[in-house]
Amino acid sequence: MKHILTVVVLLITLVAMLPGEEGMYPLSEIHKLDLKERGFEIEPAELYNPSGVSLVDGIINLGGCTASFISPDGLILTNYHCAFGAIQSLTSTENDYLRDGFYANAAVGELPAPRYTARLIESYRDVSRQVLSVVSGRMGHAERSKAIEEKIKRMVVDVEKANPGRRAEIAEMFRGKTYVLFVYANIKDVRLVYAPPRAIGEFGGEVDNWAWPRHTGDFALLRAYVAPDGSFADHSPRNVPYRPRKYFQVSTAGVQEGDFVFALGYPGSTHRHKSSHYLAWEEEVSLPAAVDLGRWIIALKEKMSETGRETAIKLAASLQSLWNYVKRSEGQLKGLKNLKLAERRREQEAELQRFINADPKRKKKYGDLFAGLDRAYADMRRRAPRDTALDNLVSRRYSMIMGNAFAICEASVERAKKDTQREAAFMDRNFERTEKQMTLALRNYYEPAEKAVLGELLRRAAALPEGEAIAAVRDLAGQGDHEKNLAEFLEKAFARTQLKDPAVVSAWLRKTNLELRALDDPFILLGLALYPDYREMREAGKREKGLLDPLLAQLVDAKKEQQGTEFIPDANSTLRLTYGRVRGYSPADAVHMQPFTTLGGIVEKTVANPGAENFSAPQRLLDLSAAKAHGAYAHPALGDVPVAMLYDMDTTGGNSGSPVFNARGELIGLNFDRVYEATINDFAWDPSYSRSIGVDARFILWSLDQFSNAKRLLQEMGVK
Ligand code: ASP
Repeated sequence: MKHILTVVVLLITLVAMLPGEEGMYPLSEIHKLDLKERGFEIEPAELYNPSGVSLVDGIINLGGCTASFISPDGLILTNYHCAFGAIQSLTSTENDYLRDGFYANAAVGELPAPRYTARLIESYRDVSRQVLSVVSGRMGHAERSKAIEEKIKRMVVDVEKANPGRRAEIAEMFRGKTYVLFVYANIKDVRLVYAPPRAIGEFGGEVDNWAWPRHTGDFALLRAYVAPDGSFADHSPRNVPYRPRKYFQVSTAGVQEGDFVFALGYPGSTHRHKSSHYLAWEEEVSLPAAVDLGRWIIALKEKMSETGRETAIKLAASLQSLWNYVKRSEGQLKGLKNLKLAERRREQEAELQRFINADPKRKKKYGDLFAGLDRAYADMRRRAPRDTALDNLVSRRYSMIMGNAFAICEASVERAKKDTQREAAFMDRNFERTEKQMTLALRNYYEPAEKAVLGELLRRAAALPEGEAIAAVRDLAGQGDHEKNLAEFLEKAFARTQLKDPAVVSAWLRKTNLELRALDDPFILLGLALYPDYREMREAGKREKGLLDPLLAQLVDAKKEQQGTEFIPDANSTLRLTYGRVRGYSPADAVHMQPFTTLGGIVEKTVANPGAENFSAPQRLLDLSAAKAHGAYAHPALGDVPVAMLYDMDTTGGNSGSPVFNARGELIGLNFDRVYEATINDFAWDPSYSRSIGVDARFILWSLDQFSNAKRLLQEMGVK
């Protein structure tokens, strides 16, 4: 007996020590996994069951993030950083929810979170054959990608017509190869229910972001509302809480080091099936340019934020996303260089080329693969400086005023076309959302920042060499002193434009191209002047996609032949399952990271960084920790409330807000980030450094209970 016990304990320990596994499994792949063997203690049908209720039914796609239902009345759990846009837009100097946190202690106090929608999967099916039926061998590259694009748009519109209130999306799984149609229920009334103070929800701020040890209570609560008849209506005071088919009990069961965990969520994008060309492109071209501009804007906005609370609130959301993006990109750059990823992939490709060359049939099938990729990327590199400058200028990412002006110009061209031939943002099904994004952004309009950022974008565009000049920018920069000419333009244009007014933006979005020309608004005129160059760039992008898609499809096929295995498609914002174990890691020689942090650690960091804004936990939290007011939420082995944990699941951006479950399917955590080394996950996953970070469910419950005394919510969640 004793022997058997020892063997069992040994086996369990061995399994817990096995290295983690790469894998973001789409729904269609789940039935192929032997769940028991991997460590699950639930049946496949509990995980996913198209003809019944399963965990998948409690998972929400929250526009770029993941979330889940945690009560029968539509209470939603997600990350603080995912709810940040809502919290920030509801914050003012009088009601400073960023500083103080937010708690609606009655249903009437729950505040609409504009722009937030909650999507739930209703069904999915493979539609590859239908999508690719429009492609013929005689097509040019741009023609091919346009034909596929339009076919997808037509199918989506048809499905939405036949299913009112639903959103249809066709996701490209393997590029140029497989397509899956997803139908989502689309809940449009989402409200903010609870957010901790920023000093908890973002404790450690920019310094600790993408890092471990981490002490961030990155969670917030929202609620889904529907019309009294159950339809997915826009916000209305008459709406009632949504009753989900499935919700999760937030559990105090917890996990220990070595325990099995899994998560369901909507990872955004990974690039593991792309070629070495793409990795080199990211390392040498794309990421350095984005980091350079991002750092410039961050420095500007940080300085401006110091001038007063009102300005700081206005700039908070854009700063937060810039910090997140830039630091992640820096981590990726470092990873690409240190791990020599492009070089390693090039070696694998040379091997693959030898495999192709060894067989005449294969050679015929894949002969042009790498030469084709070489040509496509050479062309992209040649175009890169100009494309980047132009794209930065017209997109809404950096300059709100110019981005809106350009979108108005583009709308006037696109809206004149047949619905399914328009660019996606201007199709009828998306138009209202585009309009909302544009008008709501103006709430954060802060002219000095706008002027400075647009000035920099123009300066960078004006500095392109003569042969690559963007005509409209060259004209603005004029003769002689470019700097002075641009500054004069900006002064006059900002004084004169009417685009600061959301009502004007809405009205102009509906104007024809001719009507716009007559307006004489400086930014609209600039937008119209930029349009021909932009259209040419967009066409080049479609040509390039049409060229790359079949090549990347071939790359996957050739690798499959070579390795004799199936692959999992790269992440593409569709629902995926990932699993792993709670596990520390070693980021450097002689350094070992433990997988849990605690409340005591928040206190330590606060004390060690006196006065530092990123590390000033609320006094109440410090007092509760000093009084050891742990409630029922302490980790038995640590003797303290666990705050965050590490595990080796395969996640990426978009997995933010994914519920983390133990082997029995109980919600024990909330995913929110990765360690710095794992920013490279998007290009290459590895058991030694790929660690993701979650908030421990016990900290969430401790915060609601001990810190905020949010009895109403705890009762609703079935905790008290
Ligand atoms: N914190 C990350 C994000 O929001 C999540 C991740 O990428 O792992 O981008």
